[in-house]
Amino acid sequence: MDERFLELAEAHQAEMLQHRIDNRVRYTGVSAEECDDCGDDIPKARQLAVPGCRFCVQCQGRAERLACR
Ligand SMILES: [Zn+2]
Repeated sequence: MDERFLELAEAHQAEMLQHRIDNRVRYTGVSAEECDDCGDDIPKARQLAVPGCRFCVQCQGRAERLACR
């Protein structure tokens, strides 16, 4: 395996991890009762488990997949 490629892959991974941490920091505070995206109710358990969450599980999952590209 090309060493330069490995370095790039490692740098990319670190960047993605930082990106996810940045995203997580933004989601602190009061949880929304309804999804910002689709308007579905966010279950109380999720509101408590993910402080500051603004999306339902489906929309959050979609947003995270987009963020990790
Ligand atoms: Zn939603």
